[in-house]
Amino acid sequence: MADPEKLLRRFVRVIGCAPPYPSAGWPTSSHLIGFDDQRILLDCGHGAVQELLKHCSIEDLTAVVISHMHPDHWFDLAALRNVCFHRGITDLTVALPIGGLDIVRRVGEAINQGETYFEDVLSFIEYDSNSMPLFGTMLSGDLANHEWPARMPRLDFLDGGVVAYTGDTGLASHVGPSLGSPDLLIVECNDVGPRFTSGRTMKHVNGGELGALLAQVTPKVSLVTHYDVEFKDEIFRTVLERNSGLNVVMASPGVIVEW
Ligand SMILES: [Zn+2]
Repeated sequence: MADPEKLLRRFVRVIGCAPPYPSAGWPTSSHLIGFDDQRILLDCGHGAVQELLKHCSIEDLTAVVISHMHPDHWFDLAALRNVCFHRGITDLTVALPIGGLDIVRRVGEAINQGETYFEDVLSFIEYDSNSMPLFGTMLSGDLANHEWPARMPRLDFLDGGVVAYTGDTGLASHVGPSLGSPDLLIVECNDVGPRFTSGRTMKHVNGGELGALLAQVTPKVSLVTHYDVEFKDEIFRTVLERNSGLNVVMASPGVIVEW
């Protein structure tokens, strides 16, 4: 049977979509963007590399973009670093949110491997709201509304098309305009309803808020990620209550969506 990726010019392959806690077979945040021969990984959470290797050889990976430095979004860079080291790859570009490299260095030191432990193998750059070139795209990321200074990575393709990713964010007035009207929106839904956010700072989007956000942003395709599978049907129902006409896909590991 033909490899579906070969037939799709632009796609996203879900690698991990669990909330901060992984469950069996469900890594945390990680999504593989494919276009032409390029493969850009958005986030590299717990367990991501094992799933990634089912779908993409490490030699074919073009770059990695990390949304923010909470462990569920980047800790499998340690595994990726070791796979690259083992394969003799020393030029894989990893784009961190500005300030991220300092954290990576301090983690290297904290585990007694030295501050260049990650940099000896991976090639880091840092990004912010300003656009910078990244393999056929322009990468930028406005600040999200999250506990850590998290970014919402956005890839503007040089030959047209936009992928936006919320990373982790609660709603705020700037979030919708920052995301624009992308072709593909990868959007978190970490809280199902008010019962999960009462008494907490609302730094994630619940199902009702997600419905409101999608009605504002109107992406061509919305991939809902970072959710507890126990609430999959409830989230889907809540989102579609407001957006019956939108193309909304609930992520699960390995799923491939054309955009
Ligand atoms: Zn998270």
